[in-house]
Amino acid sequence: MKVVVSLAELWEVRRFLNSPVGLVPTMGYLHEGHLSLVRAARQECACVVVSIFVNPTQFSPTEDLSTYPRDLERDLDLLEKEGVDLVWTPTKEIMYPADFQSWVLVEEVTKPLEGAMRPGHFKGVTTVVAKLLNAVQPQKAFFGQKDAQQSVVIRQMVKDLNYPVEVKICPTVREPDNLAMSSRNAYLQPAERQAATVLSRALFAAREAYQNGERNANRLRKTMQAVFNQEPLARVQYISCADPNTLQELDLIEDHALLSVAVFIGKTRLIDNILLP
Ligand code: AMP
Repeated sequence: MKVVVSLAELWEVRRFLNSPVGLVPTMGYLHEGHLSLVRAARQECACVVVSIFVNPTQFSPTEDLSTYPRDLERDLDLLEKEGVDLVWTPTKEIMYPADFQSWVLVEEVTKPLEGAMRPGHFKGVTTVVAKLLNAVQPQKAFFGQKDAQQSVVIRQMVKDLNYPVEVKICPTVREPDNLAMSSRNAYLQPAERQAATVLSRALFAAREAYQNGERNANRLRKTMQAVFNQEPLARVQYISCADPNTLQELDLIEDHALLSVAVFIGKTRLIDNILLP
């Protein structure tokens, strides 16, 4: 496994990688969710490239950039065991030199949900993913359903800007108690860690109502709210039942729906989602 930092080193190694090349973009502090993307890439691609970069432009000034968990040595160890070919760990000076001034903006699908709660977040995400795709030039790129809106936004960008890459979305990997894996789970104190199961409990309660025939979106939102009401440590930011492609809120579920939630557990902001049916 090669580990490179500079663009020059990356391009030098990239020339000799067999196609198809699969890219897995990450912010590090890897867990089984990330590794499931690496394994999917390993299955489908001749060469697997993983990027590790905590992207400052997708954090607002009030968010957790400075405390975001990092452990490069452990990450490299895990990736080596997965048979990754190349790891790119650029610095922020490489990605955003002092005279940096070009951005990628996706319009409609970045407006609701995470986009409404985290202004500027997706501008940072689309710009960094565009830069990663341009630098690595993979044939396939792997993302997690855990960040549902991010997958919609990336698909839109890839389509709109004619990136010659196939976007693959992999299922959310969960802990045994169904908490969606996330690097940010490391922030949770023991009582908060227990309370954090409320996200999947709320989503699964709505899914059960759906499976019992409920198609009214508002009643599904209320089902989720009722579960959160039982958890004193949870402070809900949004509860959504939206069209999985446009992310517009639904009145009635006709075919598909994306149920998604953003919730503070103490100071830690968690998101989770499921697709219906
Ligand atoms: P991050 O390091 O949080 O930026 O995540 C890197 C990639 O891993 C993104 O495409 C995420 O959607 C994906 N990912 C994060 N958590 C999970 C999870 N629990 N299951 C599947 N994919 C995940």
